[in-house]
Amino acid sequence: MSEQHQFQAEVGRLLDIVTHALYTDREIFLRELVSNAADALDRLRYAAIAAPQLLESDPDLKISIAFDAQARTLAVSDNGIGMTREELANNLGTIAKSGTREALAGMGDGKKDMNLIGQFGVGFYAAFMVADKVTVSSRKAGAQEAWQWESDGKSGYALAERVKDTRGTEITLHLKDDASEFLLEDRLKQIVKKYSDHIGFTIAVSGVTVNAGSALWMRPKSDITKEQYKEFYHHVSGAMQIDEPWLTLHWRAEGAFEYTSLLFVPQMKPFDLYDPRRPHGVKLYVKRVFITEGLDGLIPPFLRFLKGVVDSEDLPLNISREMLQSSPMVAKMSSAITKKVLDALQEKAEKHPGEFFEFWSLFGPVVKEGLYDAHAHRAQLCKVARFYSTHGETLVSLDGYIGRMKEGQEHIYYLSANDPQAAKNSPQLEAFRDKGIEVLFMTDTIDEFWLPMQNDYEGRKFKSITRGAAELPKVKSESKKEEDAEREKSAAAATPLLERLKEILKDEVRDVTLSERLVDSPVCLVAPESDVDIRMQRLLKRTQDYDAKHKHILEINARHPVIRKMERLSANDELLKDTAFLLLDQAKILEGEPLKNPTEFVRRMSQAIEKGLLAG
Ligand code: ADP
Ligand code: MG
Repeated sequence: MSEQHQFQAEVGRLLDIVTHALYTDREIFLRELVSNAADALDRLRYAAIAAPQLLESDPDLKISIAFDAQARTLAVSDNGIGMTREELANNLGTIAKSGTREALAGMGDGKKDMNLIGQFGVGFYAAFMVADKVTVSSRKAGAQEAWQWESDGKSGYALAERVKDTRGTEITLHLKDDASEFLLEDRLKQIVKKYSDHIGFTIAVSGVTVNAGSALWMRPKSDITKEQYKEFYHHVSGAMQIDEPWLTLHWRAEGAFEYTSLLFVPQMKPFDLYDPRRPHGVKLYVKRVFITEGLDGLIPPFLRFLKGVVDSEDLPLNISREMLQSSPMVAKMSSAITKKVLDALQEKAEKHPGEFFEFWSLFGPVVKEGLYDAHAHRAQLCKVARFYSTHGETLVSLDGYIGRMKEGQEHIYYLSANDPQAAKNSPQLEAFRDKGIEVLFMTDTIDEFWLPMQNDYEGRKFKSITRGAAELPKVKSESKKEEDAEREKSAAAATPLLERLKEILKDEVRDVTLSERLVDSPVCLVAPESDVDIRMQRLLKRTQDYDAKHKHILEINARHPVIRKMERLSANDELLKDTAFLLLDQAKILEGEPLKNPTEFVRRMSQAIEKGLLAG
């Protein structure tokens, strides 16, 4: 007797996209099924460490592909872990990964969405690209009963009990009319060779073994082609063909403890990259036996975009995940792996800055998390990190910055802003620009967290240019706009105005001061030295509901024509008041701060425009 079940909505959505997309690479369905079969064998081998009886009389783990040209069926079988009735229903009727589910929920039709799917792979459901009916029979290792799952890939699936003599899973595809090529032995062999050669289990097509049968990472580097690395990357990452490895690292560590690593940095950004809880994509093997994936402590969170395999020769096989996480041997491996990856990134950054730029623009914000929480790697991370700055379109390293420091400059200056464009327009930059002093742009959220902890780099302090007194270094102005004497004169003239502004804006700002950092703008906002940066305050307010008690400081440019005009207005003049508020709001807008009273701002602005027009 068979029961009918509905697919979860997102599965229906995925199947709809998969079956209707004009997809040229549909041969990858076989890669997906073989890859699942290999996973099932891996899991059985692992389970058999603790329970050897699971292997029963059938210890030779393998994958078989067979076809029947008459019946137009293609079957992929494995003698792996198998699935229970519940597992069939859960694994093949729902999508478990929350990120994938959310991504699917917001997805429409078309090429762009197909690309998005490429990021997480369609897995088992790829079978419906070539089949109009799929039958899955499975017997769980250690169980006697077997179950059958069957679906036409439309609205749901049927579950029924059945007889199966052997352990594991058999997936039978009833091929569509236009999929006859997958009934040709040579074609099937070619696909297996192309995508699955690296799999460490025997794969047979019509009874004949077609793959090398040894794990790719154990083979010598010189025997592995770029194509093979790429296919292996697709296998471990589940990514589709459009994503290629940006960096491939394959090495064997010998000595106190031995392990082999084959790691990849992806070219495309995973959709859930910025979620710090996202597990990394590195699988841990012990002597070719798959143990677990995404183990905490093996790869630091700031490298969570890594994919691949680490295979240890020394870890004990029967060890729980919890024990692994706190194992000193795993910690040592982790630190060696991290160093190796950072070495490679540093080399890329130095030798191929163009390529590194591509990487950094996607993964830089994540790597910088290490500056905040990976003390042991901080020195190396400082060598890898790159920043936008006032000096040009290309990224600069901290060493590069120090190399271009002006004579008499002691500190590393930075400006915190939402994005490089906003940073460029900051009035606080003016005096630095005028003196030709480079300012780094800190535009990632994480910058607000690591900078306060990182006192200095190579003895140079990090100084925010929007916090505290300007403390401009004694560097001669490049444009020589002004002489010191004239500067002092204008400052003295502005003192009475300063007092009046303090009075007018006393509820709005903490203080009004004369600016050292402004050249072309009349005013700007800064944070007091003792406070966190303005942008950090905004961030805390948003993320932690933190209410900044401290008000900002308004700096005015005594040499600016608007300020000079204001000096001549009398104390009780409405125009002085309106102008003061207008300037404050203007500074807020540039800072990305919300206006307290937009209606008032508009009223004052219109009035000013009107006056200007009438005067002109
Ligand atoms: P993924 O492999 O990324 O988990 P798939 O869509 O390829 O996603 O497969 C879904 C799930 O179905 C797998 O995680 C696994 O639990 C189960 N599964 C698929 N094929 C097999 C198989 N041959 N043997 C055992 N379980 C399988
Ligand atoms: Mg899969």
